Amino acid sequence: MASTSIANISRSTVEAIVRQVALEYLGRQKGAAAPSLTVQTSSRHMHVCREDMNLLFGPGSELTFDRPLHQEGNFAAKETVTIVGPRSRLISNLRILGPMRKQSQVELAFTDAIMLGINDIPVRLSGDIAGTPGAVIIGPKGVVELKEGVIRAAIHVHMSPTEAAYFGVKHGDKMKLRIGGQAGVTFNCVHVRVDATFRLNVHMDTDEANACGLHLTKEIELFK
Ligand SMILES: [Zn+2]
Repeated sequence: MASTSIANISRSTVEAIVRQVALEYLGRQKGAAAPSLTVQTSSRHMHVCREDMNLLFGPGSELTFDRPLHQEGNFAAKETVTIVGPRSRLISNLRILGPMRKQSQVELAFTDAIMLGINDIPVRLSGDIAGTPGAVIIGPKGVVELKEGVIRAAIHVHMSPTEAAYFGVKHGDKMKLRIGGQAGVTFNCVHVRVDATFRLNVHMDTDEANACGLHLTKEIELFK
């Protein structure tokens, strides 16, 4: 008598096999290998709107390009500001990322927020800042009181429509990211962002990267 019947294969095993076969089929269809995945750590930073740029750095001032970021058109600027939290604690040398945006926004890791005295910083996707805490921002030419816009950026993956088809996901879905190694972590809520200009890469903050020892491992897997 056969020791294994089909009924003994778990549903998850079947799903894994089906997924693998489907991916191989898709890959062959496009003649493409699995897209190469990079994971990048975003340190705390700020995005500024035109109006706040005027107040912080002077009327008509522009951001100065320092180095490119992985997503096309985005860059780290030379300009930095100081952020002051609710109990007068501050973080200086907060880097500004360009280009300018419609709304100013500060992205901090939990550790940064707690250091500033913001213990309940909400986890949000970039741009979704309604009802989030504010802060005082000090620049070389002036001060801005942000009414809202201080967030912990939700871990997310950027991808092109082709890459989304490869993974079988769409904009707004959530995926899992497994980081191996001695301090391995699986992130269960990686937001999928799809756009024709995007290249495949995951953005996490410094707390997330430090928790999983990201810089010490090459074992990275993104899946549904
Ligand atoms: Zn990103």
